Amino acid sequence: MTIFKKIIDRQIPADIVYEDKYCLAFRDLKPQAPTHILLIPKEELKSMAEVENHHAATLGHLMVKASEIAMNEGIASEGYRLVVNTRAFGGQTVDHLHIHILGGRPFSWPPG
Ligand code: 5GP
Repeated sequence: MTIFKKIIDRQIPADIVYEDKYCLAFRDLKPQAPTHILLIPKEELKSMAEVENHHAATLGHLMVKASEIAMNEGIASEGYRLVVNTRAFGGQTVDHLHIHILGGRPFSWPPG
């Protein structure tokens, strides 16, 4: 079981900022920006590399909620970054798909 599944099941605490039937959003333990939120599906889906057609509704829902959360956090007007690290080369460390919502400072490109 991943640490994120334990957060969904309330086995470990998290600073939750949004929840509905399909997803959960909480603040990252080690924030990389003034605002750093992780948005995850409640459905167990390891990474973008495991996505199939039947995940379309869940993933669409996550993107809509990411936009809403960014708006509610006050980072939308200046701009923000969504990141989905995928498998080893992507830097993924938790095997439960998650969208990083990062804001409150400018980000450079290309990424490291
Ligand atoms: P990844 O590296 O897989 O893209 O991102 C995993 C993220 O989860 C990291 O930014 C890390 O700080 C965060 N994280 C790991 N364990 C916990 C935890 O127990 N609680 C919270 N809130 N964040 C965590």
